[in-house]
Amino acid sequence: MSLDGLPPLRDVIARHDLSAKKALGQNFLLDLNLTSKIARAAGDLSTHDVLEVGPGPGGLTRALLMEGARKVVAVERDPRCLPALTEVAAHYPGRLEVIEGDALKTDLGPHLISPVRIVANLPYNVGTELLVRWIEGPPFWDTLTLMFQKEVADRIIAQPGTSAYGRLAILAQWTCEARRVFDLPPSAFTPPPKVTSSVVHLARLPEPRFPANPRTLSQITAAGFNQRRKMLRSSLKSLHPDMEELLQSVGIAPTERAERVSLEAFCALARALDAARKG
Ligand code: SAM
Repeated sequence: MSLDGLPPLRDVIARHDLSAKKALGQNFLLDLNLTSKIARAAGDLSTHDVLEVGPGPGGLTRALLMEGARKVVAVERDPRCLPALTEVAAHYPGRLEVIEGDALKTDLGPHLISPVRIVANLPYNVGTELLVRWIEGPPFWDTLTLMFQKEVADRIIAQPGTSAYGRLAILAQWTCEARRVFDLPPSAFTPPPKVTSSVVHLARLPEPRFPANPRTLSQITAAGFNQRRKMLRSSLKSLHPDMEELLQSVGIAPTERAERVSLEAFCALARALDAARKG
């Protein structure tokens, strides 16, 4: 038996024949001490419903329940995992709801009661897409504690002047406090992925860090970072005929590249661009 009185995950995987499928991004965490560390990084779970994407054989799910989650709603695309998850649900009556489906296509709102934390060892092929949707979509969650490839985690927490700094850093840090919690070597997973992974914790801010229209900010960062080697006066030229003056008016040198511009300065430029378009 494991710490939680359920069979060890290796036995669960063998009994239900859950050989990992690469196409579903299946790299399982089998060490309950490790999954508990991730669950604790999410904060107090007893006051929240937890949304987990991709519970697989249930390693992280079990840790979330063991660490006291009020309720876990887990969305899993692979039907082979459902019998194993049903066993976990029986061990924690009324606290685990398993939904079979694709997290990108399932409306989870009706299953969750606010406040909500999202905690997941995400399938790498859909991780960034889910993150962007959660940040840009309706604010139904307080915190995200998510496993990514280290390279994606680097892009989420990147600071200006680094090659990882780009649209993802702007989006995440504009609306959230974002930090890396810890890195995990490939050997922590079964089967091991090719690269190092990182757990990232994002806590939603009550308001975006600086005022700006999200669409305008997105237009500017898309244009600026899609041509990140170009000077801003050239990469942003198509957004307004007086772009050079607008850049100067908010203290950004027109010869600067997007990679070196702070979040605060991008927001100031978004406000100046909106004002110029209205005027
Ligand atoms: N949480 C488990 C763990 O930590 O051991 C499994 C994590 S594994 C990296 C990703 C899981 O997400 C797999 O179980 C996979 O079947 C599931 N998955 C992949 N794509 C999905 C999707 N679009 N919606 C829901 N689950 C998905």
